[in-house]
Order: sequence, then C-alpha cells, then structure tokens
Amino acid sequence: MIKKIIVSALLALSLTACGEKEQATTSAGTVEQQTYKWKMVTTWPKNFPGLGTSPEKFAKMVDEMTDGQIQIKVYGAGDLVPALEVFDAVSQGSVELGHGASYYWKGKAPAAQFFTSVPFGLNAQEMNSWLYYGGGMALWQETYAPFNVVPLAGGNTGVQMAGWFNKEINSVDDLTGLKMRIPGLGGEVLSSLGGTAVNIPGGELYTALQTGVIDATEWVGPWNDLAFGFYQVAEYYYYPGWHETGSTLELIINKDALASLPPRLQKIVEVAARAVNQDMLDEYTAKNNDALNTLINEHGVKVRKLPDDVLAELHAASNKALADLAENDELSKKTYESFKKFAEGVKNYHRYSEQAYYEARDLNAN
Ligand code: CA
Repeated sequence: MIKKIIVSALLALSLTACGEKEQATTSAGTVEQQTYKWKMVTTWPKNFPGLGTSPEKFAKMVDEMTDGQIQIKVYGAGDLVPALEVFDAVSQGSVELGHGASYYWKGKAPAAQFFTSVPFGLNAQEMNSWLYYGGGMALWQETYAPFNVVPLAGGNTGVQMAGWFNKEINSVDDLTGLKMRIPGLGGEVLSSLGGTAVNIPGGELYTALQTGVIDATEWVGPWNDLAFGFYQVAEYYYYPGWHETGSTLELIINKDALASLPPRLQKIVEVAARAVNQDMLDEYTAKNNDALNTLINEHGVKVRKLPDDVLAELHAASNKALADLAENDELSKKTYESFKKFAEGVKNYHRYSEQAYYEARDLNAN
C-alpha cells in the first residue's frame, strides 16, 4: 500500500515536471495560480548580440511581469531545432514560441517577405508605423493564420549594411556570377541581375566565406558583423543596405498556446514583445557606430559605398521583383498594395521632416 502511494506520488511529480502547465491548488480546492513552462526556439546563435539577447530579455521580462507564471526557456539555433525549422516547430506546437525573421519563410507564404524588410522599403520607424498604424500587422496575422501561428514584431535592426565582399563592386556587371548569401526579395533581385543568391543561417556564414562557398554575404550591421568576425574572411564592407532598410524581427507564438493564456497574461506577452521590439533598435543604434570604428581603425576594414548607378539598377530590379511577387500571389498583392500606399505617404512626409533634417544637420557638421 505504502509502495503504491510512493509510486503514485513519484508519477505525479514527474508528470508535473514534464508538463507544460502546473497548477497550485489551495486546500479549499480553488486554482491559485497556473504556471506555463514554455519553450522558445530561435534562428540565432544563443545570446548572439541583439538578435539572440532580445528573446532572452523578452523571456525575463515576461517572467518578472507575470511573477513567474510564464517561464520561457530560450534555445539557440540548432539546440532544439535547426534555424530554418523554427517556424514549423511553432506551427506544429512542439514549442510555443519562436524568434526569427519572416522572410525566411517565403517558401511557405510569399507575403511573409514584406514583414521583415523589402528592398528599398521602409526604415525602422516607418516599418513600426506601418505594422501598428498602417494595417501591416493585420496582414501579417492573415499571412500566418493558416499555419496556426500568431506574429508579433520582436525587434528591429535599423538600416543594415550591404554586406561583405571579396571583390569590388564598381558596376552592375560585377554582380554577374556573384554567389552571395542574401535572403528574401533581396536575393531574388541579385539573381535577376545575374548573381546567385543563397540563404545560409548566420552561424555558418564565416566558414562559408572562408572556404569560398560564397563570394559575399550580407548579415546585419557593424555591431553584429564584428561579433561574427567577417572582417577576417572578407575584404570589402559595402553600404548602404538597400535590401534591408529597417528589418523587423519576428516573435511568433503558437495560436493554441496563446489562446490557453488568460487575457491578462496574453496582454503581458503582447506588451513585452512591443517593448523588446523597440529595445533592440535602441541597442543597435547605440552600438553600431562604435563597432564600425573598431572595424575600420583596429581591423583595417575597407568600407565602400555601392556606386549610384548600381543602386539605381538594384532599385529598378527591386520594383520589378515586388511587382512580380504581387502578380503571382493574392495575399502578396493585397500586402503590396497596403505597403506601397503607406510607403508613398510616409516617404513624402519624411522628405519634409527626417530627410530634410538629416540633410540640414550635415550642412555645417562642425
Ligand atoms: Ca540581413
């Protein structure tokens, strides 16, 4: 009899430890608190600056704000699932949360590309504005609904760099035959101009450049690119990041997992995502310039601006790639129309505000 009780108690303990939810019940039998132990998989190396530390901050924030009711364990790329299987894991519910970039999933839903960044698209401020006040978030939710996934914006890198190259780009002809890691529509634009675009997870890029598997790679910007050490395996660092003009990272949630939370906890998850979305941009803005100076002054990196005529060709090819995308997929068409209308409006106003101010403050920089 005693043995049976002990076995039952052990069984109950182990079930509690493995289960996704725990309930503490008072002696009166009422539910006092339900605890959610969630897993979050990411497309980044564990604790990679900005991209990987933001999901950790999110987990900590949610833990603190829920007084420990939601506990999230964050996994780096490959720890639980490979980087490019994050979306599937969340969709299937084998994990509750994911952190990555929507354009990685263009093969599942072409419209997803709009929610990271499209070439010659919006800057970070404008992206957030489109998502939260221009209808973008509703379209993102519609794009992911068939997959049982709810998207939230989970960070922004700001304007990226064009990338690391082992040959100089002096004309559009230099893109011919260039094998470059560049995901999303940027990759399609490169391909349309004679290059070969590949998508490789961040953690594999250094070796790919070193061994000559690729001739060039884009990643993010100075702070992140310094961390990966690309300056050791590539000669030129080009700007501006025409292909990623204010990239939104995504924080994705399995729809059933989110629905299992009481409204108060759902709100905390939403607000914490909004907080890390802004926090990531703030941190990039603070750290990129110092990292750029380190690359130039300590590592002798050759920084080059893409020639204007190359940028003009890339822009024309980008417009065509966006139009082709819209033509071939109904949801992409709807998203492109929303994005385009918003972009035209915000770009016009920013000519009078942000852009005019950038130009004005450089007139007498000293
Ligand atoms: Ca990038």
